[in-house]
Amino acid sequence: QVDNLLQSDKMALIGQLAAGVAHEIRNPLTSLKGFIQLMKSDTKLNMDYLEIMESEIDRIDTISNELMAFAKPSPKDYQLHNLQSIFENCMTLLEREAIQRKIKVVRKFEDEQVYVYCDDQKIKQVIINLVKNAIEAMEKPGCLTVQLQKKDEFGMLSIQDEGTGIPKDLLEKLGQPFFTTKTSGNGLGLMMCYKIIEEHHGKIHVESEWGVGSTFTIYLPTSPTQ
Ligand code: ADP
Ligand code: MG
Repeated sequence: QVDNLLQSDKMALIGQLAAGVAHEIRNPLTSLKGFIQLMKSDTKLNMDYLEIMESEIDRIDTISNELMAFAKPSPKDYQLHNLQSIFENCMTLLEREAIQRKIKVVRKFEDEQVYVYCDDQKIKQVIINLVKNAIEAMEKPGCLTVQLQKKDEFGMLSIQDEGTGIPKDLLEKLGQPFFTTKTSGNGLGLMMCYKIIEEHHGKIHVESEWGVGSTFTIYLPTSPTQ
């Protein structure tokens, strides 16, 4: 009987996930279809349509990438990597958006060389997501403070924003699939982050105050764990 219960729980969860995925993918598909129809009746090639269509395709691509973190775990390619290098690598992709929004990135790096045992591509995905969320939370110009240091047997990276903050009652929803408060969000980013950090035997902490800002901190082991 217990087995049956678990089985039905699993089915319910799969149903929930499937409904969420279907919903998230249907929106950009509907929009793509609409633009194709418009273009069929239009004699001129409209570049604006193409721009929107491209961004809708990117949206589907993002969703599929983020769900991939939940697919069968990929073979682990863990090595020692410089956490600061991974972070700077991410920033080359995000710096422009930060500048456009007048967000100053303040680096407080206590230790120059913090090496962590990780799959650098996966950690890059995590950092990009956290920094993006931080930037998106800041409606006004301000500072994004990044701290990097060794903490016991972990490398620590924290990202502190001066954004909207997260109401207490929503904190527990972070990382749940499809939980988003954004009109163009998909609510898969944090779920992917939590999953990746867990696979690395690391930790992720959130501190947030509504109206003040949030700090997301990741801890990654500095040496292989069993
Ligand atoms: P998405 O960014 O697509 O909404 P995420 O999983 O990345 O999905 O984030 C889920 C939700 O968590 C966001 O919609 C937002 O409400 C909240 N959140 C995440 N990071 C922050 C942050 N730095 N500041 C405020 N809210 C945040
Ligand atoms: Mg996000």
